[in-house]
Amino acid sequence: MTADIIPHTSTEAHQPCWQEELAAAIRTPADLLERLELNPAQLDASPVAQQAWSLRVPLPYVQRMNKGDIDDPLLKQVLPLGAEMLAAPGFSRDPLGEEDANPVPGVVHKYQGRALLIISPACAIHCRYCFRRHFPYEDNTLGRKEWQMALDYLASDKSISEVIYSGGDPLAANDNFLLWITQQIATIPHIKRLRIHTRLPLVIPSRIDPSCLHWMTATRLKVVMVWHINHPNEIDQAVSQAAQRLKRHGIELLNQTVLLKQVNDSVYTLAELSEKLFDVGIMPYYIHRLDKVSGAAHFEVSDNKIQQLQQALLNALPGYLVPRFVCEQAGALSKLPLPLSTEATAR
Ligand SMILES: *Cc1c(COP(=O)(O)O)cnc(C)c1O
Ligand code: SF4
Repeated sequence: MTADIIPHTSTEAHQPCWQEELAAAIRTPADLLERLELNPAQLDASPVAQQAWSLRVPLPYVQRMNKGDIDDPLLKQVLPLGAEMLAAPGFSRDPLGEEDANPVPGVVHKYQGRALLIISPACAIHCRYCFRRHFPYEDNTLGRKEWQMALDYLASDKSISEVIYSGGDPLAANDNFLLWITQQIATIPHIKRLRIHTRLPLVIPSRIDPSCLHWMTATRLKVVMVWHINHPNEIDQAVSQAAQRLKRHGIELLNQTVLLKQVNDSVYTLAELSEKLFDVGIMPYYIHRLDKVSGAAHFEVSDNKIQQLQQALLNALPGYLVPRFVCEQAGALSKLPLPLSTEATAR
């Protein structure tokens, strides 16, 4: 009679869903360093920096860090350091002038044809170099009425053909909301494409679950996802599988990288990153020069070094695996290409 009842005491491990992974994210430097078997005294970990913008890093990402390595390139991206508190000339709180390109709450419209929606103020991971760390998110947390105003703005400007979900991290929002907003956007005839700028599938690959795939595919809009992967060590089996799920559903996958001192500022690392991205079905798109946001000066790579890296990468890889080197400038009409070295580049 009970023969076909599967007992709950199965030995199979419980696979946490993405919301559980998010809730279980590490939030203190002490906890992170203990898991990595590191002695806090070896690092410039700073309680002041932690207080200014707290550490947040989900376990699937922590598991890709090397234990006992104070120079781990993933650790460097998330650990609050004393160096963040030093003022640096040319670094400011809003280096991109985004607070001025905010026509209605929730919308950033800087470039022709593309408008960015701040879908969720939250992120699954706090990246120390992020230019959004000082963005006035509180003013951009919207209710349904304000979302209607944002949608009205998109509908009123026929030049907009692409909507970009951004944040924060747009995939930190729940799928019911994402389904609703995507359906609303699809009713605007001049919008053709939906782009999703996210780090969540990288840090928590289980985010790409059936309900996420549902709203991404149940739409007439062509969907492009732009990942944000900075180092080859960030790509593991679970990340690869999440990318496969998206590809199988016809979603285009691109990647953007931020150039970060002592994280990925070597030709070897960048070439390996491009190769590994291609292996998992993601095309390199952009490499960004660091935005000069206060607290991030210790990540800055010199212009001279950037030129050398760009040339060396062109020499090392097939053209389609070389991302475009760009920077952002307040008031510019697009991201700007970075110059190549004018020195002789031939053999
Ligand atoms: C980067 C960005 C875009 C997209 O630019 P692409 O060059 O099309 O990738 C759009 N809007 C804003 C505000 C941006 O920062
Ligand atoms: S917006 Fe992107 S880069 Fe910035 S903290 Fe969030 S996930 Fe990191």
